[in-house]
Amino acid sequence: MKTFKVAIVGAGPAGYFAAQALQNSQSEDIKFSIDMIERLPTPWGLVRSGVAPDHPKIKTVAKVFEKIATAEGFRLFGNIELGKDISLEELESMYDAVVIATGSSRGRKLGIPGEDLPGSFSAADFVPWYNAHPDFADVEISLDCNEAVVIGAGNVAMDVARMLALEPSELDTTDTAEHALSKLHTSSIRKVHICGRRGPEHAAFTSPELRELPKLEHTDVHIDQHQISEAIKRAEAQGELPKDLKSNLEAMQAIAEAEKKGHERSMYFHFLATPLEIKGDGRVEEVVFGINEVNDGNVKATGETFSIKCGLVVSAIGYQSDEISGLPYEGGKVKNENGRISGRNSYVVGWAKRGPSGVIGTNKSDSTDVMKLLLEDLKEPKSGSDVEKLLEERGAKIVTQSDWEKINAHEVAKGEPHGKPRVKLISRTEMLGIK
Ligand SMILES: Cc1cc2nc3c(=O)[nH]c(=O)nc-3n(C[C@H](O)[C@H](O)[C@H](O)COP(=O)(O)OP(=O)(O)OC[C@H]3O[C@@H](n4cnc5c(N)ncnc54)[C@H](O)[C@@H]3O)c2cc1C
Repeated sequence: MKTFKVAIVGAGPAGYFAAQALQNSQSEDIKFSIDMIERLPTPWGLVRSGVAPDHPKIKTVAKVFEKIATAEGFRLFGNIELGKDISLEELESMYDAVVIATGSSRGRKLGIPGEDLPGSFSAADFVPWYNAHPDFADVEISLDCNEAVVIGAGNVAMDVARMLALEPSELDTTDTAEHALSKLHTSSIRKVHICGRRGPEHAAFTSPELRELPKLEHTDVHIDQHQISEAIKRAEAQGELPKDLKSNLEAMQAIAEAEKKGHERSMYFHFLATPLEIKGDGRVEEVVFGINEVNDGNVKATGETFSIKCGLVVSAIGYQSDEISGLPYEGGKVKNENGRISGRNSYVVGWAKRGPSGVIGTNKSDSTDVMKLLLEDLKEPKSGSDVEKLLEERGAKIVTQSDWEKINAHEVAKGEPHGKPRVKLISRTEMLGIK
């Protein structure tokens, strides 16, 4: 029997699904010893630090991750960062294969004047702030304005807009970071605008997320009925509507038609609006948009503009990977061929491979496909030294699976009296103190 050693870097969905694919391909002839290396003391990637707190069901996928993590031959090395605590070359020499699953965590820039004014943030900073990511606990977010603008037409933009527009008591029984929850409770924001450059027919929102909007108990959601009818006409003129698009447009139509209750809090969708400039004297005061139109399927500027007065701007227009030393990058992703990284015994999966697209489940098929290639490439197991010894010699404070289980149990116990799934720890020192 051959036992191959595989290091998986990044404990997000793509990393766990890669581990699962390897576990499932074990036989009497082949076994895998899997070490998962994660820079944070806590695993689960964006399931912990991205998925919106008011969507707890989505996070139940973590049960699958924990099953993978407690199977024989799996070790977690939390609080260990590739490129800082250990290099790619070292991993490649110690393991038969290295799987990069480090995601895509840097926000794409708008590239417009005023983007760096105080009060303008990327969702890549704002989301981990409300989700208790330790690196973002100190982001200075001020919610002392009446209106906020969210730029982007995908589910991340929608999550951000919803978090800002919800009645904060609706978040009391969620795992929203305590610092964010107290800020949201005193927030002055009552109107949230969500703005996309293209038409409703081009938006990347998905329909389950759209369909929940008219059901919000304390927030009215507005979409211009005329914009949706025009979008439907344009889309139908191209031929039969694909299922997902039909469902999205119907969901938007339902929002447009839904009775507005006159709630104090509201959310407004604006389509065909390109942000041109963020204005303000020392902080964000206004966003100027160019108005677009769709002509023969192409989005074109009309030359007309409008503006929205606001004190907070969050842009959610995509992510790119943070570069790790030793890895080749291209277009914000790790350069790869179907997941193989040329000339080395390393592979890449998930958002680090594909860029920021797809839901959690997309990573399962993607990781499984890449692990098939990894299996094809394996020859004889090599006898590399053990990573644990090397990390201990370097004085690294490793968070093992059982350490993480203690942190997890502590958080869950802290949440229980308040009806929350957990109260997330934010300080690395506190986390390491529990282990
Ligand atoms: C705000 C937001 C909300 C989302 N909501 C949903 C949703 O509701 N439903 C849904 O299906 N999908 C959702 N998604 C998409 C989903 O989260 C992704 O498809 C998925 O997380 C991508 O998995 P990944 O493993 O590639 O990356 P990630 O989940 O980002 O995991 C990467 C991991 O690698 C670690 N890492 C990074 N660099 C290093 C390093 N140098 N050394 C060691 N470790 C490192 C990170 O800390 C992280 O744990 C959302 C995404 C975002 C951004």
